[in-house]
Amino acid sequence: MKIIVCVKRTPDTTTQIRVKPDKSGIEQDIEWILNPYDELAVEEALKLKEKNGGIVTAISLDPDANNSVLRRCLAMGVDEACLLKGGKNYDSYSVAKLLADEIKQREYNLVLFGKQAIDDDNYQVPSMVATLLDVPWVSVVTKVEVNGDSVCATRQIEGGEEIMETKFPCVISCQRGLNEPRYPSLKGIMLAKKKEIPVKEIASLPESVAVTGHEAPSPRPPGRIVGEGSGAVKELVRLLKEEAKVL
Ligand SMILES: Cc1cc2nc3c(=O)[nH]c(=O)nc-3n(C[C@H](O)[C@H](O)[C@H](O)COP(=O)(O)OP(=O)(O)OC[C@H]3O[C@@H](n4cnc5c(N)ncnc54)[C@H](O)[C@@H]3O)c2cc1C
Repeated sequence: MKIIVCVKRTPDTTTQIRVKPDKSGIEQDIEWILNPYDELAVEEALKLKEKNGGIVTAISLDPDANNSVLRRCLAMGVDEACLLKGGKNYDSYSVAKLLADEIKQREYNLVLFGKQAIDDDNYQVPSMVATLLDVPWVSVVTKVEVNGDSVCATRQIEGGEEIMETKFPCVISCQRGLNEPRYPSLKGIMLAKKKEIPVKEIASLPESVAVTGHEAPSPRPPGRIVGEGSGAVKELVRLLKEEAKVL
């Protein structure tokens, strides 16, 4: 079985994000991690390989040619990695087109994604890649079962689950609950350090959507004590009605 996993570098969830003074993006001197939903996709690829045999390839598109998330994938047990280096400011369609162009040059049964990237939260790349590859797509998947040349995927829907079956090749995007991603072993980390990660320079595409600015959320106003005991209730209700306008 040939499995491709698309992985993105995202800011660590605990990092303090700062917007650049010119509002063109965020300051880059922060901690970066493998997008947590992509970690689920990597784990699932490894589990499928352990059960059915095959090869797992991780692909990442990164404007700075930073290969740290691909090193982590290799340390987890991925067989090979490929880094696509392109211009900055790509929108979801450009990301999908560049990934799909790379995937088309490879043999694959299954392409795995996270359901979303936790920084931009667009949820768009997997569906666009599936469309560009002209293969079926199942999203927000919490269980994957392979039966010969087809795959049965359970997906989360409002108030229940939906079970879908499709033939390979196909695209699946992964949701929390699918598995528990493994920690890389020391041996895995050492082996990953030695592996070569090919870098492909790719031409940027014209933007179909441009980000025109970034704003940090306005700081929360400080809390206010309006009084004590039952005597404060009247004033609290007035403030909730007239200032906060939540009643
Ligand atoms: C390090 C970095 C810096 C960036 N800086 C800027 C910037 O300054 N300004 C700007 O406009 N845009 C920038 N981009 C592009 C932008 O952040 C998004 O990649 C793009 O809009 C796609 O949206 P999304 O990440 O929300 O994708 P979603 O559709 O939410 O992602 C879903 C899934 O698609 C896959 N995926 C998404 N992106 C990639 C990728 N690059 N490589 C491999 N798989 C991927 C992952 O499996 C992910 O879980 C940057 C991207 C990266 C990786």
